[in-house]
Amino acid sequence: MNKLHSQISNAISNQSTLFTDIEKCSPYLQGTEGFDALNDKKRRIDAVVIPGNTDDIKALIELANVVSKNEELRFSIHPISSGRNWGYGTSQPPTANVKTVLLDLSDLNKIEFDEELGLVTLQPGVTQQQLSDYLIKLGDKYMVPVTGAGPDCSIVGNAIERGYGITHYTDHFGAVTAIKGLWGNGTQYQSALFELDKSKDKFVDKTYKWGVGPYLDGLFTQSNFGIVTEMTIRLAARKPAFSSFYIKLELDELLEAAIPLIQRVLRDYEGIVSSINLMDKRRVLSMIADNPIDNNQHQNMSDNQVQMQAENLKTPSWTIVGSIYGSKNIVKVTKKEIKSIFKQISNQTIFSDDPIISIANKVINFLPEGLLNRVAMLKKVKLQLDSLHKAKEIMQGKPNRLALKLAYWRHEKGANSFEGKVLSPGKDKCGLLWYAPLVLMKANAMREYVEFVRKTCPLFNIEPFITFTNLRHDCVDSTIPIVFDLSNPAVVKESHNCLKKLVTEGLKLGYVPYRLNIEQQQWLLDKESDFWQTVNQIKSVLDPNNILSPGRYNPGLVILK
Ligand SMILES: Cc1cc2nc3c(=O)[nH]c(=O)nc-3n(C[C@H](O)[C@H](O)[C@H](O)COP(=O)(O)OP(=O)(O)OC[C@H]3O[C@@H](n4cnc5c(N)ncnc54)[C@H](O)[C@@H]3O)c2cc1C
Repeated sequence: MNKLHSQISNAISNQSTLFTDIEKCSPYLQGTEGFDALNDKKRRIDAVVIPGNTDDIKALIELANVVSKNEELRFSIHPISSGRNWGYGTSQPPTANVKTVLLDLSDLNKIEFDEELGLVTLQPGVTQQQLSDYLIKLGDKYMVPVTGAGPDCSIVGNAIERGYGITHYTDHFGAVTAIKGLWGNGTQYQSALFELDKSKDKFVDKTYKWGVGPYLDGLFTQSNFGIVTEMTIRLAARKPAFSSFYIKLELDELLEAAIPLIQRVLRDYEGIVSSINLMDKRRVLSMIADNPIDNNQHQNMSDNQVQMQAENLKTPSWTIVGSIYGSKNIVKVTKKEIKSIFKQISNQTIFSDDPIISIANKVINFLPEGLLNRVAMLKKVKLQLDSLHKAKEIMQGKPNRLALKLAYWRHEKGANSFEGKVLSPGKDKCGLLWYAPLVLMKANAMREYVEFVRKTCPLFNIEPFITFTNLRHDCVDSTIPIVFDLSNPAVVKESHNCLKKLVTEGLKLGYVPYRLNIEQQQWLLDKESDFWQTVNQIKSVLDPNNILSPGRYNPGLVILK
């Protein structure tokens, strides 16, 4: 037993799990990003603690502070909730060459729910699927704030990263009403409102996001000041009626005309239509088609190949996707109005509750399996209906793995070898990085951005898969998945160069990422700037010994060794 093992096992209870052997630690170093293929600085995880209670988190933080001045014994702690931060770092610690104890919070999965108010309090390990199962048991009246990352991801981890989805409450941190946690110096955190409340159950804190006095909950997000042990989230109630819409734009040039219409819908139907996704042809194909090129060839589809796939699968130049939530009448009227708003640019608007879709589903489900497999055309229709159904589930707050297929586009073994298996891009060694910049929601700016991505990605043999998520009428974030073959070091390097080019050139054009991967957090942020100097001052108070995730959204760190 090494020293680290014995000092930690003396500090924590036997409700928690601790291991220090390499075979058990190393899976946590497996990410989709391929960082270590690029440099000699190897990330390290010296121990993993899976706490069975929150007292042991406190004990570990206290121990790290006590030994922080001892060259030989000191260590940093990197907390993860489910460790599936694919494309941004997965479960890897941000800084290399630092002795790290990975704190895997996935066993902490208590759920408390006030059904009347729709406020759910979660421990960090609660996954989308666990919350979904819990809510279904209670009558399925509320929606899970799902993401494309799927059922096995933590709700708390995603909110801490300030991720977003496409259900009713799109902005996941926006829906967080209360946080409890521990700062890096070991002090307990709860809001001032909670502290002032002298009632028995002190619940009112969970109903009001902003508390009293300086707002500190936000300091737990995209930072390394503290560990969240509990989070309360406002869940969107399932509405009596729902419909998702799919609007097909045949011509690429229709993008400019579509933007003001999307803006109008988001403004006029605020609270009824939450966010709208706009995806280009290649991006849609990446979810529903097979890569026509050998997966490990590191080559983009030719325009011809895209055209063939698009014709085959009836994929237009742009697809607009959104959802309508409300009473039966509201949904009925909104459907009509949305159809009429987009009529000027498309006569192909499909609603998920169109009778034709339910008839098609009934017919397909009635047909014998053998026939479906023999007749290619029928098989294709079935696939399309399945995708439509799964997309609808996501928009209704039911997690599934539909979007994960994208990560396997260039997997060395080919995406099909994973068919029927539980997809997990990190474990399966998929290559994926995200470029996720905010873009001005103006037609010209978005067109310029599209041209920039379509010009830059192919220089590095990366497919320019473009999605715009229109979060509000005035705010759009684009996500470009940089998908590559992780098994080929030269390809990994080229993919990273692609991302770097997108980021550095994009910044000059005003495209600023809303979220960064663990390497960008090291090189992109200017530690001398006013903002990051202030962050360091806060860090020196909340975590003076720099024990929590050194380097995470904090460029001015003192490096522990
Ligand atoms: C195909 C695909 C689709 C995706 N779609 C989406 C999407 O729609 N929206 C989206 O936002 N993301 C998406 N992602 C990105 C990512 O996988 C998700 O955001 C995922 O939810 C993040 O991982 P996690 O929930 O396991 O968080 P974790 O990995 O557990 O946490 C993320 C980070 O937060 C910090 N942290 C975690 N827990 C704590 C804690 N308790 N206290 C303090 N700090 C903590 C850690 O630094 C950690 O590295 C997608 C990824 C893929 C591959």
